[in-house]
Amino acid sequence: MKAEIVTIGDELLIGQTVDTNSAFMGSELSAIGFNVIQITSISDKREMILRTLGEKLGKADVVLITGGLGPTSDDITKQTLCEFFETKLVMNAEVLAIIEKMMAKRNYPVNENNRRQAEVPESCKVIPNTAGTAPGMWFEKEGTIFISMPGVPHEMKHIMNEHVIPELKKRFTSQHIIHKNIMTYGTFEAKLAEILTDFEAGLPDNIKLAYLPSAGVIKLRLTGSGSNREEVAKSIQYQVDKLYQIIPGLIFSENEETLEMVVGRLLVKNGKTLCCAESCTGGEISHLITSVPGSSGYFMGSVVSYSNESKTSILDVPKETIIRYGAVSRETVEKMAEGARKRFKTDFAIATSGIAGPDGGTPEKPVGTVWISISSDKKTISEKFTYGNDRVINIRRFSYAALNLLRQQIIS
Ligand code: AMP
Ligand code: MG
Repeated sequence: MKAEIVTIGDELLIGQTVDTNSAFMGSELSAIGFNVIQITSISDKREMILRTLGEKLGKADVVLITGGLGPTSDDITKQTLCEFFETKLVMNAEVLAIIEKMMAKRNYPVNENNRRQAEVPESCKVIPNTAGTAPGMWFEKEGTIFISMPGVPHEMKHIMNEHVIPELKKRFTSQHIIHKNIMTYGTFEAKLAEILTDFEAGLPDNIKLAYLPSAGVIKLRLTGSGSNREEVAKSIQYQVDKLYQIIPGLIFSENEETLEMVVGRLLVKNGKTLCCAESCTGGEISHLITSVPGSSGYFMGSVVSYSNESKTSILDVPKETIIRYGAVSRETVEKMAEGARKRFKTDFAIATSGIAGPDGGTPEKPVGTVWISISSDKKTISEKFTYGNDRVINIRRFSYAALNLLRQQIIS
C-alpha cells in the first residue's frame, strides 16, 4: 500500500509557509498502514502539477494533494486537475448550498469568486467541506486514487478525519502499524547506535528502529507492522523489554513524555516540592517545569541569580566561596542549591552556574561548561558537564542535564 503526498503552493517553496500539511497527512496515512514513499512540494504552475501527477500515475495506490484551491487567480489546481483527468468544470449544487449558508452566516453576499468555488471537475467524487468553502475532490485513474484538498490546514484536517481516512480504511485491508517511543537521556546518538548495534541487527524484518535526537534527549522509535495487531504489539513489547535490559540507565520514559513531565510526575508521586536557583540557564528550567500542567502543586518558585551579588544576598552563598572558587564551581553551585532550598522551604532544589557563551570562557572553564547541583534533605550533589559553543543550544542542554540529574536523585 503505497501512498504519496503532493503539496502545492508557491509560499511553501520560498519558506513563507511551513509545510505542516505533509507531516499531518504522512502521520495519518502511516497510522492506517500506508507506506508513504515520497512527499513533493511544488509551485502553483500548471506544468509542475501535470508533470508531478503524471509521475505518480499507476505507481502509487493513493496520492494526497493539498493547496491551490483558493478562489483567487493564483490558485490553479482545479483547472489543472480537469486537464489531467480530461474532464470539465461543472457547477455543484450541493457545494454551492454549503457556500451560500456559510456566507449568509457571516453576512457576506455570495460573489463570483465564491460561485467559482462551487464548480468542480465533472468526473470527480466531491468530498464536502463543512469547515470551509473549497470542497475536496476524489479521482481515480489507472489504479491510482488522487485526492485533492484545500491547503488551509484545519480544512484539510477536517476532510481527512471525516472522509478520507475512513474511506481509505474501508478500501484497503489495513496493515497494522504500531509505533512505540522510548525516551532516552545521557548519551549521544552515535554512541547509542554503537551500544545498540547488536540489538538493531537482531530486529525482525517487520520492526524498524529510528533515532530522533533533540537537545540531549534521544527518542528511539520502534515501528512494527503486520496483519495481526496483537502479534505486532507483542513483538514490539519483546523488543522494548530487551532495550530496558541493555540501556536501563538511559531510558527515562516511554512514548512522548518529556523530562519535565517525568520530573513532575515523580515529584507528585513522592509528595515532594521543588525550587530553582538559576544562573546561566536564566529561568529556562523553571519555564520547562511550569510548562507542565499541574506544576503549581510541586514547584514553589525560582531565583534567577545572574550576578554574584544576588547569589550572596538572596541565596546566602558566602562571598569568599565565589572569590575563592569562582561563580562557575562545585562549591558555589552547591551553596546556591542549599540556599534556594532553605529560602523556598522545598524538598529539592536545582541550581545551575555555567558559561553559555559565546564569550566568557577560559582554558580551565571553556564555553559550554556548567556546574549543576541538586540539593535535598538527604544530601547535596553536583556534577560538571561540558557542551558546545552555541548559547541557545547550551542553555537548553544545561536545563535538560539538570532535569535528568534531579530525576536520578528523586528515584535514587
Ligand atoms: P490554498 O488552498 O493554496 O489557497 O492555501 C490556503 C492557505 O493554506 C495558504 O495561504 C497557506 O497559508 C496554507 N497552506 C497551504 N498549503 C499548506 C501546507 N502544505 N502546509 C501548511 N499550510 C498550508
Ligand atoms: Mg495557494
